[in-house]
Order: sequence, then C-alpha cells, then structure tokens
Amino acid sequence: IVRLDGVPMMQDGSYRGMLFLLQEVTDIRRLEKMRSEFVANVSHELKTPVAAVKGFAETLLGGGVTDEKTARSFLQIIYDENERLNRLIGDILELSKIESKRVQLECSPVHVIDFFDSVLETMSKVAEKKNISLSATVPPELFMEGDEDKLRQIFMNLLSNSINYTQDGGNVKVTVANRMEDDGTEKVIFAVSDTGMGIPRKDLPRIFERFYRVDKARSRSSGGTGLGLSIVKHLVDLHRGNISVESDLGIGSTFTVELPLLQEDEE
Ligand code: ADP
Repeated sequence: IVRLDGVPMMQDGSYRGMLFLLQEVTDIRRLEKMRSEFVANVSHELKTPVAAVKGFAETLLGGGVTDEKTARSFLQIIYDENERLNRLIGDILELSKIESKRVQLECSPVHVIDFFDSVLETMSKVAEKKNISLSATVPPELFMEGDEDKLRQIFMNLLSNSINYTQDGGNVKVTVANRMEDDGTEKVIFAVSDTGMGIPRKDLPRIFERFYRVDKARSRSSGGTGLGLSIVKHLVDLHRGNISVESDLGIGSTFTVELPLLQEDEE
C-alpha cells in the first residue's frame, strides 16, 4: 500500500502523481565485484600450475633433455605443480561448499587434550623437518562441544601456517584455557603462537580474505593456496566463534580462536 499523502485527489477520485523508487545498490555492486574478482583470481591461480605442467611436459616430450638429472628435476616440478593444483581445487570446492551453506556441523563432545594430542602428532612430522619445537598446554579435563573434523581443519591450517612461516629451529605452541563470560556462558580460548616472521600491521586486516597473501612468492614456495585462513574463518563462524590475530614483524604471530564451550541448537 502506497500512501499518497499530500497528493491532490482528481475529480474522478483517482490520484495522479509520480512514484520514485530508490534502491540501495552499493551492497549488490560490492558483492558482484567480489564475485568477479574471485573468478579472476581462481582462473589466474589455476592457470599458473597448468601452464607449468604443460611447459615442462612439452620440453620432456620434445626429447631435448638427455641428461637424466635434469629430466628428473622437470618431473619433480610437474609432480609438485600437480599437487598444488590438487590442493587448490580442494580448497576452492571446500570454500564454495561452506559459502553456499552446504556445510553443517556435526557436533559431539570433544576431549580437548586428546584432540590436540592427535593434531600435534600429525603436525609433528612437518615440524621435525624444520627442527621446530611444537607443544600444547591444555587443561586435562576440558571437554567442549564441536564438530571434530572441522575443528581439526581449523587447527591443522593454523599450525601448518605457523610452521610454514617460522624459520628453522623456531617454536610453535598452542595454549588452551576456558573463561566464564559476564552472561554466564563459557568460552574456550585457543592461542596458536609462533616465533616466525610475523605479519606487517597494514596486512593484518586483510589476511582472512580469499587469496590474500603477504608475500606471494613465499606462500607459493611453501605450497600455500591463499585460501587457508578464509576457510578457517568460515569454520570458526559456523561454530559461532571468533578469530583474531596479533603479530610483531620479525618476532612472531598469535592467532586466537574463541569458541563457545557448548553449541546451542540454531533455530
Ligand atoms: P597461504 O596458503 O598463503 O598460507 P592463508 O590464507 O593460510 O594462505 O594465509 C594468508 C597469508 O597470511 C599467508 O600468505 C601469509 O602471508 C600470512 N600468514 C598466515 N599465517 C601466518 C603466520 N603464522 N605467520 C606469518 N604470516 C602468516
């Protein structure tokens, strides 16, 4: 119903006038821009390894490489780039599943100390290669409700970043504590800290964006896809939690994840 207050009524009882509809399109435009930027980024990220595989395979097939050592190093590049492509496709599919809300949490009680024992065991192999000491301090009797697979994805991603962006011989540690909030709810606070290269202050607000990297070359050489932290952020949001980061350049970074102890059913 449109009220035509102040518009004079015509003799036949009808109203004549003009109706202006103003629609706020800023958000629509912003989403369109983000979508097209994402498509452009995806294309670029996929094309790079595909081009490398093609180039090196063509050179080998051309028969010009007779030296076995060189041939093997080309095969290794083809293998690595293919693995990278695999990771990228996996991360892109994962992100699109989460963003289109096709991911639901399957929550159960998680014994936090057992959970980190198992996560650290998996990550210790990567840490050992760089001689990085990896440890966790967790209250022994702490249980929380969450989706164990998704929690694993969150902390494996954070820990693999910490290991990747820390020099050989550094330290990576997880500290877990629980806290009672003013409203009577309980939260579990996880801090993942490293003694790595740190993140410049100007980049901090953007690192959870898709494909945002502080140093492209370093991320690429360590096998990163640039999607890990945005997947982590989505998974933390799904648990109705919060993630933040503090970092000192050249000294290290701490990623703090706050999750509710109990997941209340969403209506
Ligand atoms: P990537 O696959 O490149 O690691 P992420 O989304 O996981 O992508 O992280 C985005 C960027 O944030 C990384 O490229 C890196 O520059 C920076 N970063 C993430 N974690 C750390 C860390 N622990 N220390 C330093 N830099 C980090």
